[in-house]
Amino acid sequence: YGKLYVVATPIGNLADFSFRAVDILKQVDLIAAEDTRHVKMLLQHYGINKPLQSLHQHNEEHASQGLVDKIRDGQSVALVSDAGTPMISDPGFPLVKLARQQGVDVCPIPGACALIAALSVGGLPTSRFSFEGFLPRTGSARRSFFESKLPDVSTWAFYESSHRIQAALEDMLTVFPANHQIVVAREITKLHETIVGDELGKVLEKVRSDENMRKGEFVVLVAGLEPGDQDDELSDEQRRILGILLTKCS
Ligand code: SAM
Repeated sequence: YGKLYVVATPIGNLADFSFRAVDILKQVDLIAAEDTRHVKMLLQHYGINKPLQSLHQHNEEHASQGLVDKIRDGQSVALVSDAGTPMISDPGFPLVKLARQQGVDVCPIPGACALIAALSVGGLPTSRFSFEGFLPRTGSARRSFFESKLPDVSTWAFYESSHRIQAALEDMLTVFPANHQIVVAREITKLHETIVGDELGKVLEKVRSDENMRKGEFVVLVAGLEPGDQDDELSDEQRRILGILLTKCS
């Protein structure tokens, strides 16, 4: 058998690419990429010229078995996404699952990931955290989602696009108190990188008043609830949920 390499690519700054990632991409027989045109630019930058096969959310169920067959025939394949680590809000799941089920070695080539980069600079506790990927797109689904996250005691994170960052924070403010701590990490490793950590109400004000704060790519970190510290600030809804949780725990 060959091997399947899951290779992280930069999330902005092209220098955030490991020597090992470049070596592996030079060695493999085939690169499976989310968007072959996009990855060509990265490969050109590093002088890598390899056959490419597209593997995106619309064909990955179907195309994955073909790739696993090639690996079982002895070829080595690298999986890359448009930016960052494959599988993290990106394609790869059917391929990695099939490969592992069918006895193929799957090797990580770790590197950039917007979630981990944001957590590493956000200044919120990270001993435990949860990741929610992209939020529901409609306001009502988003608000229900925020309600479900209200009692969380550890830091949590989501990805957001420029089209929805303001609406997402506005919906959040209908559920969370205005003084809840959040961090918006924008354009990480790029020219306009901005990391803003403050109370939800204040961050939303910045996003509303500065159109640059609505441009680019975003990771949002949300502090977990600290019952001891925030007791005086709890809304009626938070008290109701905490009451239910405490009754269940006792
Ligand atoms: N697999 C990628 C990773 O490892 O981070 C994530 C891919 S997901 C399709 C794209 C989303 O990740 C963006 O909408 C944004 O929320 C986040 N993201 C990616 N690059 C980013 C960056 N440089 N700064 C902030 N957020 C970023």
